[in-house]
Amino acid sequence: MSASTRLPLSEAPASASDRERHILNRLTGFLVAVLLSFALLFGLQTWKQTRDIQISELSTVMALGEKSLDKYFSLLEGSLHGLSDELAADEGDLERSRQAVVRFSRLHPDVLSISLIRPDGQITISSASGPGAPLPSVKAITAFETSIDAMRKGIDFLIGRPVLGVTTKRWVLPLRQAVRDRSGRLQAMLVATMPIDLLQTFWKDAPIIRHASIGLIDDDGYLMTRYPVSAEIELADVYGTPRTGTLRKHLVQQKFPLSGHVEGFNVIGGANYLNVYQRLAHYPATLFVAMPSTGAKAMWWSAVRAVYGLLFLLFSGVALVYVAARRQQSRDITQRHKSQKEIHDLAFYDALTGLPNRRLLMDRLGQSLAHSKRSSARGALLYLDLDHFKNINDARGHAVGDAVLKHVAHTLTALLRAEDTVSRIGGDEFVVLISGSNCDEASNARAAGILTEKILAQLAKPIDIDDQPYAIYASIGVSLFSSDKPSVDDVMREADTAMYKAKSSGRARAVFFEAGMQAEVQSRVAMEIDLAGAIAAEQFTMVFQPQVGVGGKIVGGELLVRWHHPSRGAVPPVQFIPLAEQTGLIIPLGNWILHQGCEIHLQLKAAGHRFPLSINVSPRQFRQSDFVQQVTAALAKTGADASMLIFEVTEGLLIEDVEGTIARMHELASLGIRFSIDDFGTGYSSLAYLKRLPLYELKIDKSFVDDTPSDGNDTAIVQMILSMAKHLGLRVVAEGVETQDQADFLFQCNCDCLQGYLFARPMCVADWLEKNRGAVLEYS
Ligand code: C2E
Ligand code: MG
Ligand code: MG
Repeated sequence: MSASTRLPLSEAPASASDRERHILNRLTGFLVAVLLSFALLFGLQTWKQTRDIQISELSTVMALGEKSLDKYFSLLEGSLHGLSDELAADEGDLERSRQAVVRFSRLHPDVLSISLIRPDGQITISSASGPGAPLPSVKAITAFETSIDAMRKGIDFLIGRPVLGVTTKRWVLPLRQAVRDRSGRLQAMLVATMPIDLLQTFWKDAPIIRHASIGLIDDDGYLMTRYPVSAEIELADVYGTPRTGTLRKHLVQQKFPLSGHVEGFNVIGGANYLNVYQRLAHYPATLFVAMPSTGAKAMWWSAVRAVYGLLFLLFSGVALVYVAARRQQSRDITQRHKSQKEIHDLAFYDALTGLPNRRLLMDRLGQSLAHSKRSSARGALLYLDLDHFKNINDARGHAVGDAVLKHVAHTLTALLRAEDTVSRIGGDEFVVLISGSNCDEASNARAAGILTEKILAQLAKPIDIDDQPYAIYASIGVSLFSSDKPSVDDVMREADTAMYKAKSSGRARAVFFEAGMQAEVQSRVAMEIDLAGAIAAEQFTMVFQPQVGVGGKIVGGELLVRWHHPSRGAVPPVQFIPLAEQTGLIIPLGNWILHQGCEIHLQLKAAGHRFPLSINVSPRQFRQSDFVQQVTAALAKTGADASMLIFEVTEGLLIEDVEGTIARMHELASLGIRFSIDDFGTGYSSLAYLKRLPLYELKIDKSFVDDTPSDGNDTAIVQMILSMAKHLGLRVVAEGVETQDQADFLFQCNCDCLQGYLFARPMCVADWLEKNRGAVLEYS
């Protein structure tokens, strides 16, 4: 089956749920955008505020720190200045100078040591050494060199960079003061050392923020003090080398600004810091507070946390609502797609078998014909109708019928290529479309023929349904099409006509459409129409053909129906009885015949003829569920004697629903009706069944009588039927007896009675009565 179709079910226009989804998306997007913008703005704003607060707090600390430190250094400078004046006044009296130094040391316990150094580098007094102890020269020390040079140039006070005391092993900050005589000549240099620890303790009580550090950096980049200094960091790393981090670079770049802040990497601490700084008023150094950025972030975070938490809840709420709404929508969409697919399937597919239906088939046939026209391709359409499917449905129920139809669908699909179409267009009607291929006419016909054979053979293989074996037979009509076939309807009609022909030719076969079939079908259809109106128009009459016993005695007679159509004339029963059977018209016709039979029997009886009258009952008539009631009603209405009626039925009646048939026959037999098997020998009869039927007689078919006694085979069959009937205790009538030879032979073989043109042709009952008026007849 090809899955493609030219008839897609049009998509539903943008539905309400599409619009809802659109609105929901927009609304959610808008809400999320608002929330995000708010979060961003709030975050930035808060970050800026946090920064500003930090910077202003740190700046305040800076200002205080700067003032006190500047003052401290100024005081020290002043004290050292006073000492230097005192020493200058001593004019080289070393002892007096030493006493002055000792006094100074006592007054300034925070000064670790104080030394007096001559301009040539020789230490003359040191508070760290006792009197008389040998004192070293510091001439070679670079710091001394540069300091003495600066003093020679007129600078009086210098704060040096931190050094590790040689004897004290402590990091100290040297404060250098020039000693000059009255004329201003440099006499010596005073060096007071302050332990850096002392400066650190200076900061201990400073209101600096947690995680921050405070320090003093000179203009050469050396840290003069720092608090706190972590125990893990080597002091030499802190004080021994100039700084290279962000703050130092910034100060150099900005040419040592008075105050400000800068953020960046700090070498000590190895992280990003915010540095707020303030230059000392009187000394070439800058005080700074460094605050790790993480600390700033922590502050920022604690400020925004609550609001962000609230926003997160809002986000979650929006997300939840959105997800729930989308889920509901996607359920709705799935449901809608499902419904659309169901509608599509209902429109184009058969619900039971899942095969394309008539609509889709017609569409594909149209495409196939269009393709044939364009490319001269040939194809075929197979119209398949199951034989006697109705009987299976009626007798076994619809579940079994459905199973059979599904089996047929499956079998056909399995036998065909994917590009072909198998469709179910009605109850038990399937149509197979073999799509076009570029072959010649003969090959196309051959391929279709092979396929139909395969289909028939495959279907005939017995299948088990509810533990009951079934063989499925079908009649197939084939229409071959090529580029010259005009329309879809033509192709369908041709295949249908051929199928009809297959049915009328005995079913279970495939018939290819031929020119002329159409006319035949049309004439059948016309006859069907005429037949339907024939009862009402009183165009039927009954004729009577007597049956003769040994010695020429009339022992019975058969009633046969005749149809006189005003324009058709006399239509033979072999033409219209099968048609009536197929169309169901046999039901009203059979009922009319039944009543006629009863009345004719009464006429014969009234005329003094007392012999049984045979009436033909067709299978469809017999199978009516209320047939027994119809017979009872006819008998009651007419007052006919059931025991004088013989119903002729054919062997075909026994093919289906044997048990039902037997039961019904017994019911009728209990009314007095007798049964005869008509055309015996031509159909399927099982001896086992015959024994169970309430039979009275067998009628040997004319075809066997025709060639007796000349043909050995027919003669043997006639003899066999006679002996079987004798065995079963049945009367035998031979029909179609036309010659004396036949009559002689049949009587010799103990055939009970004969019927045929040799004795009488079927004739109008009134004529027969007229002819036999007053005849005193003996009947068996
Ligand atoms: P059937 O029931 O086997 O009827 C016997 C047929 O053989 C009759 O044909 C009769 O006219 C014909 N016939 C009798 N003797 C001779 C003979 O010596 N030579 C030849 N050539 N034919 C002979 P008819 O009347 O044309 O009926 C044909 C069939 O139509 C019947 O076969 C029966 O099956 C059916 N039929 C006729 N009348 C009725 C009826 O009232 N009801 C039903 N259900 N079927 C009927
Ligand atoms: Mg008959
Ligand atoms: Mg017959």
